[in-house]
Amino acid sequence: MSMQGSVLAVGKCLACLEFMLLPVWQGIRASSGIGDGWSQGLGRCLRWEPSSPGQGPRMPVFDYPVWLVLCRRGRARLREVCQRGRGVIRLPADILRFKLPQLYDNHQIPKVFREDSIISGYRHPKSSALDCVLSSFHMNNETMNIWTHFLPTWYFLWRFCVLCSTLNFLTDSYTWPLLVYMVLICIYPFTSSCAHTFSTMSPESRHICYFFDYGALSLYSLGCAISYGHYVIPDCWVNSFVHQHFVPIAVGNALFCTSLSCYSRFLELQFPKRSKVMRTVAFIVPFIFDTAPLFYRIVLCCGGNCGSSSALSSHCYHLLFAFLTCFLFTAHLPERLAPGRFDYIGHSHQLFHVSAVVGTHFQMEGVIADMMSRRAWLVGHGATPSFLSTIGVLVVSFALNLGVIGIFSAPLLWKPDQSHAAARERKEQ
Ligand SMILES: [Zn+2]
Repeated sequence: MSMQGSVLAVGKCLACLEFMLLPVWQGIRASSGIGDGWSQGLGRCLRWEPSSPGQGPRMPVFDYPVWLVLCRRGRARLREVCQRGRGVIRLPADILRFKLPQLYDNHQIPKVFREDSIISGYRHPKSSALDCVLSSFHMNNETMNIWTHFLPTWYFLWRFCVLCSTLNFLTDSYTWPLLVYMVLICIYPFTSSCAHTFSTMSPESRHICYFFDYGALSLYSLGCAISYGHYVIPDCWVNSFVHQHFVPIAVGNALFCTSLSCYSRFLELQFPKRSKVMRTVAFIVPFIFDTAPLFYRIVLCCGGNCGSSSALSSHCYHLLFAFLTCFLFTAHLPERLAPGRFDYIGHSHQLFHVSAVVGTHFQMEGVIADMMSRRAWLVGHGATPSFLSTIGVLVVSFALNLGVIGIFSAPLLWKPDQSHAAARERKEQ
């Protein structure tokens, strides 16, 4: 390697070590208004100058978004280092023009995108799908919302894979309620993460993204009901009327939850308080119903009639986090106390995500502990799960919930102007 080559390599390494590298793309130019330069930005690329005319580039060429600095005053630091090292690594002037995508304050974006007490850090309200994906690597007021559900998805997937290697989900019908539950606790954080990622493509896409988020949450509530109805149900409830109708009622609850929460979005702008109350009720009703057998067991335990104590302690931790989750969802704390201070890190929605995931972890531990410890007793009393009451119910509810989401999405996707224009064209022809 030549002397110059060595210096170039060292310079590059130093530059890499100095920063935390995260992807950045050329979105809206800071100096221009919303929409200007937005679509042209991705064409930008970083190239290294050849050492002499006619000679190929000595350093790698990047024809796609580059990894740049993400930290406070990161852009200024990059410029400073580039200027210092320019004599050595001969960076072209183009690199100095790279800018982090512009973020907006709440008064600069349409009302439908605004969040309570979040002042800054909003992404462009007409981002492309690629911009949305890349924005998850760039600090904005949704970044932590995305990651606080994306990473737990992998944790739950890992737990699911471990269970797949130890349990026989294929032929052992006793494990099917757990199978349904595990599938749904992997789906709901992933859907939420996607909803937060793609919610800034347009007002319509924002609503549809959150319709899917609510649908996944109501299916999760159904997964809780299926697992609780088969493993957590108190001994004295087994084969009772409540036990036999527990899952069918939970299917109704899931549909009610999806419908009411989706409908609440249409009231959000005009009646924000009413919308919030409706959404809270939509999720609290299935929670209270699903948790009724668990509450009863805890009451029995308080009366000195405890079954599996290790499972109950996990369930109690889950309940604690479930109440915290509900409190965070409704209270909008801490950002309500100091609007603008928690825009990026620490606002209630992030805490709500974390609390929900930790609660789900304890719930999963409780369900697994009950499933393992109560197997002989439950099977002995004829409480063996059927295909229809587990996987069958999941498939049917999945289709029904998709139907509900489709019904609420249709008016958003159907543009009256376009249809009228098409009708007029047909008439003219
Ligand atoms: Zn969320």
